[in-house]
Amino acid sequence: MNSEMGVIGSPIGHSVSPAFQQAALDQAGINATYLAYDVLAEELRAFVQGLREPGVLGINITTPHKGAVIPFLDEMDDWATAAGAVNTIVAREGRLTGHNTDGVGFLRALRDEAGFSPEGRCALVLGAGGSARAVVLALSRSNVAGLTIANRTLSKAETLAELAQQNGVSASAMGLDQDSLTTVAKEADLIVNCTSIGMVRGPDENGAPLLRDQIPPSALVNDLVYNPKETPLLREAEAAGAKTLGGIYMLVYQGASAFEMWTGKPAPVSVMLEAALAAMAARG
Ligand code: NAP
Repeated sequence: MNSEMGVIGSPIGHSVSPAFQQAALDQAGINATYLAYDVLAEELRAFVQGLREPGVLGINITTPHKGAVIPFLDEMDDWATAAGAVNTIVAREGRLTGHNTDGVGFLRALRDEAGFSPEGRCALVLGAGGSARAVVLALSRSNVAGLTIANRTLSKAETLAELAQQNGVSASAMGLDQDSLTTVAKEADLIVNCTSIGMVRGPDENGAPLLRDQIPPSALVNDLVYNPKETPLLREAEAAGAKTLGGIYMLVYQGASAFEMWTGKPAPVSVMLEAALAAMAARG
């Protein structure tokens, strides 16, 4: 039987998940089709109900449905509960479980692509939206020595700092434009950009949240923005002599974790990365 899976969002035309998930299914010899579905808010309940049909392995969820799907599920894993957001649904014999693989995908990308272990290190997270929440949870659960969250809207950074503190981590919040951001950045082992700054067609396409003089050469700078592949922040980090990691890696590793839950097989990560990079390049 041909199994079905896919990604839902609205709009969804930009998603590269179909390219790299289908490549993974084909590589693993699994007879399944992974498609993108543009689902409106008012169609969400019926769509999710349809996932209970035989032959459906599951689905990925992206903006704007990551929170809205929760009432339609039977259970949630610990990451999804803590994040308050679901990016993967696994369907098993008509039961639907919500997962959130963003945090694990972020950590796998750090470890496998940059050889970085967050334990005992100091991290600076820029931004306090949905992706920052996943990153703060992941770093908090990895026993970082200290965590600072800097965001344009200070109250949102404070909320995430509280979340980290609840997980036993020494954490503080600050504004993105505060002078002391440079001091904090200079002491960071890891800097993660979770803002939309630098994103193609985003609010500040040519901007970088930190400049080269603020970045220590000893740091790893991970920009979650994956379009463009080489962001203004990554260019600043390279000029500072720092190590860099692009956002495509977290994207692929969160998908790899979803693939493994659906299929029970190890994800062919290098094939997925190659397909994701090809899809991004084709888009221009
Ligand atoms: P979000 O929930 O909408 O949060 C956006 C964040 O960017 C907020 O912290 C917001 O600050 C900040 N921001 C937006 N415009 C800004 C500006 N002009 N100046 C300063 N700060 C600004 O978005 P998200 O889901 O976290 O996504 C953020 C970025 O990460 C996007 O580019 C997305 O594509 C990328 N992402 C990548 C992955 C991956 O797997 N690589 C996963 C998820 C997201 P305020 O709170 O002040 O509004």
